[in-house]
Amino acid sequence: MKVEIDVKVPLGSKLEDEIKRLGLEVKDFSILRKSIDARKKPYFLYRILVDLPQNVAKELINEKKAREHVPIPEIKIPRISTKKKVLVVGSGPAGLFSAYILSKAGFDVTVVERGKKVEERVVDVNRFWEKRILDENSNVQFGEGGAGTFSDGKLTTRVKDKKKHFVFKLLVECGAPEDILYKSKPHVGTDRLRIVVKNMREKLIDQGVKFRFSTLLLNLNVDKGKVNSVVLKNLLTAEISEESYDYVFLAIGNSARDTFEMLKNRNIALEAKPFAVGLRVIHRQKTINRVQYGRKWFKYPDLPPAEYSFTYRGRKRNVFTFCMCPGGYVICASSEKNSVVCNGMSNYARDSGYANSAVVVQVFPEDFDNDPFRAIEFQKLLERAAFVAGGSDYSMPAQRVWDFINGESSSELIEGGYIPALKSARLDRLLPPEIVQPIKEAFLYWYEKVSFFVPQNATLVGVETRTSSPVRIVRNENYVSVSASNLYPIGEGAGYAGGITSSAIDGINAALSLIENTS
Ligand code: FAD
Repeated sequence: MKVEIDVKVPLGSKLEDEIKRLGLEVKDFSILRKSIDARKKPYFLYRILVDLPQNVAKELINEKKAREHVPIPEIKIPRISTKKKVLVVGSGPAGLFSAYILSKAGFDVTVVERGKKVEERVVDVNRFWEKRILDENSNVQFGEGGAGTFSDGKLTTRVKDKKKHFVFKLLVECGAPEDILYKSKPHVGTDRLRIVVKNMREKLIDQGVKFRFSTLLLNLNVDKGKVNSVVLKNLLTAEISEESYDYVFLAIGNSARDTFEMLKNRNIALEAKPFAVGLRVIHRQKTINRVQYGRKWFKYPDLPPAEYSFTYRGRKRNVFTFCMCPGGYVICASSEKNSVVCNGMSNYARDSGYANSAVVVQVFPEDFDNDPFRAIEFQKLLERAAFVAGGSDYSMPAQRVWDFINGESSSELIEGGYIPALKSARLDRLLPPEIVQPIKEAFLYWYEKVSFFVPQNATLVGVETRTSSPVRIVRNENYVSVSASNLYPIGEGAGYAGGITSSAIDGINAALSLIENTS
């Protein structure tokens, strides 16, 4: 009988030895979950799956030392009988995972992506960081794999949908590290993600999916509540084509401002949604290890670089840390010329020696009179101001946390943990007081709670404006736009997901919904 057993493993001990210590004679086991409890003396907590004789298993269950294993149900993908054509716009997680399900079901799937395939995109992004030449269609936000390709590849999600296990399994099949199947905080790292994205493309091509890179969705022709045709532009040849598809999946991410504008002009229902803006903070990783694991953290080499998540309840707006990257880099993630936006990235090894995290403040639709395009203007304004403050060469403006609090310029900044460059600037003057004040209060509050978290060298970088989409493309419970019966807005850009895993799950659910309504 298969049962799950929790095993505590002190630092420096082996899982196998701790299993024996529990009096269990098991030769084979698999790990279902691994987490760290760092509240007092840190230890690892494993959940293992073992096959035991029925009587032994039942006894352990009665003694509350084990629980019966309930396998996670597999996703069933029904086959459809007709070969309907689907256009998927965008090759981020929402687009790729919807294309996977739809092609498995028998749809004729084409993926168009304004950016380049991942191998070429990496060259463009490196050129941007090294020579500061930005390609507005092939950058950290746009290109194969979507916005998360140059990321920490964190896969944690608050979405309670068992399909996340399906997402992780497919990622592992495509080359992601196996430990994402059981770690409580799984992450892939940008170095491994680039391989995963390429392998996933090859898998999808084997399934019959057609990919067209450097191809922009320029327009939708909508008539009588239906998308009749799409207008596509080949960005390499400038050739424009009008094509017809039975269904269009819009997986455009949160940076496709021109496409949002086009949707507005085509009378596709859009609404403003809450999001968050602010800055990113860099620490030395050892500072964060000290905060999370205690004074003696360096004695335990098995401990991974520590993570954190802090919140502060402000009078009008809450402040929270977000998308923390242990052992990573703050990167310039611009997708528009003369604009600077930052984000975080790390390799699988998380070994840069620096930690970073967004520190962002809530903004609400009411701040923009419920107009999503005013919210986008606000993001743009901050990004252009950051470009100028950074010296107009895509260096990111930066200020030490204490100087930010005290309203002073920084003569020194943190010495590493960023790509490509920082420039000292008055971030406390760049952002509006409604954002600056809550961030100041938050740091003072966190300093009172954990003084080590606000050391002299902790440095803020600007600006973090693309935490999630300010726009929602309104859809019904079947994932269909309320304005066009064959248009499926999905993922983060549609405003129904935030992060790699939830966007992938949203793509899967929308695809399953279409299959259900077609078969
Ligand atoms: P996206 O991944 O944004 O993909 C949209 C795609 O559509 C893009 O490739 C774009 O080029 C394409 N596109 C847009 N408009 C058009 C058009 N008109 N025609 C053709 N193609 C178009 N999330 C996490 O969960 N963990 C992390 O560690 C993490 N780190 C991040 C680090 C960085 C630097 C960034 C930028 C984001 C990070 N995120 C992270 C967020 C995560 O990447 C997104 O939530 C996720 O990628 C959203 O998936 P999506 O498929 O909805 O959209």
